[in-house]
Amino acid sequence: MTLDLHRLALDAIDAAVDELHLDDGIRASLHHPERTLTVQVPYVADDGTLRVVPGYRVAHSTARGPAKGGTRFHLDVTPEEVAGLATLMSVKTALMNLPLGGGKGGVTIDPKQLSDAELESLTRSYTRAIAANIGPDTDVPAPDVNTTPRHMDWIADEYGRITGTTTPAVVTGKSLAAGGSLGRDTATAAGCRTVVLAAAKRLGFPADARVVIQGFGNAGAHLARMLDADGLRVVAVSDSQGAIHDPRGLNLAAVTETKETRGSVIHHDAEVIGPEELLTLDCEILVPAALEGAIDTGTAERLRAGLIAEAANGPCTAEADAVLRERGVTVVPDVLASAGGVTVSCFEWQQNLRGERWSAQDVSARLDARMNAALEDLWRVAEQRHLPLRAAANVLGVARIAEALEARTGQPAELAS
Ligand code: GLU
Repeated sequence: MTLDLHRLALDAIDAAVDELHLDDGIRASLHHPERTLTVQVPYVADDGTLRVVPGYRVAHSTARGPAKGGTRFHLDVTPEEVAGLATLMSVKTALMNLPLGGGKGGVTIDPKQLSDAELESLTRSYTRAIAANIGPDTDVPAPDVNTTPRHMDWIADEYGRITGTTTPAVVTGKSLAAGGSLGRDTATAAGCRTVVLAAAKRLGFPADARVVIQGFGNAGAHLARMLDADGLRVVAVSDSQGAIHDPRGLNLAAVTETKETRGSVIHHDAEVIGPEELLTLDCEILVPAALEGAIDTGTAERLRAGLIAEAANGPCTAEADAVLRERGVTVVPDVLASAGGVTVSCFEWQQNLRGERWSAQDVSARLDARMNAALEDLWRVAEQRHLPLRAAANVLGVARIAEALEARTGQPAELAS
């Protein structure tokens, strides 16, 4: 499913600018990234040949702090997609009230076809190509689809070699040994869990509400385990090979083991169902935790969940979102439901800058506090302005960015709450 993420992001900005009656200068500033880098990423293949693929790094906004956002390795990566994702990052960091802006990067490649040596060559080459434009005070990359702490460690090391420094704060999501933060690996899931529990309580769902999770990667797998431990019933999960269903609730420990040992959840002893059936199963909570565009109009019309928590970036098309609003389905938008990762990334960056190491409890308490504060801000703006949560999130994020822009340019600011 393809989705025009850039269009989605620009429409979100426009709606928020209109709602806040901001002037066209702010609109233009938010429509255009501050910087778009298109680079050539040459790497050495195992057969000794040189291969070249395109790469990108977009700093959308630094009004509130250095640009911040992940690096995606995927065949579908385009400059437009990266720009759209960078725009969403600016809204996300502002909504979370982090002292950061928004950015994103990507390389157009299928990393599953590469050996470890090729991957390292590619990642180091990408780092050299963008090195002049990243840094702890300018733009701080992190993991995203198909990138992990291993890739981040290579980025930090290569950046250090180029600059002749040790600068762990140039990138987040590193391994613990390389200066990563405790809790970063499970942060996206932990943040999503906090908002799912709070929203489910507010909607009056039963304590053992049924949950369906699409995607069993870093976010989906940890989230499934956490919600299961909270007493919710995870009745279905999926990965790129297929989906499984058990109305009594899946045994998550066993599913995780199956995924680890046999490569896919579909080998677990449960009913195998189709991807569309997964999304329209009878349940209270649906968590799209895979790629963008997973929920289109047809699915939105048929799905039966009362709450959707967007653990992935951009999982609902704009048309699907309108259908869900019409049907009264509560959607906790991606800019909040997936914000746990960048929030703990911010903690990692702060620890690196200060030479500190925070305990797991400290990280988790700070993350919880941030997620709950953002959710409360969001409900308040949604109620005050009679807006769905997604529109309220965009309004809140855009208001905070506009306030920073106006403070910098000396224009009056009476926007953000
Ligand atoms: N890629 C994640 C996101 O989309 C994390 C970004 C970060 O940690 O900077 O939010």
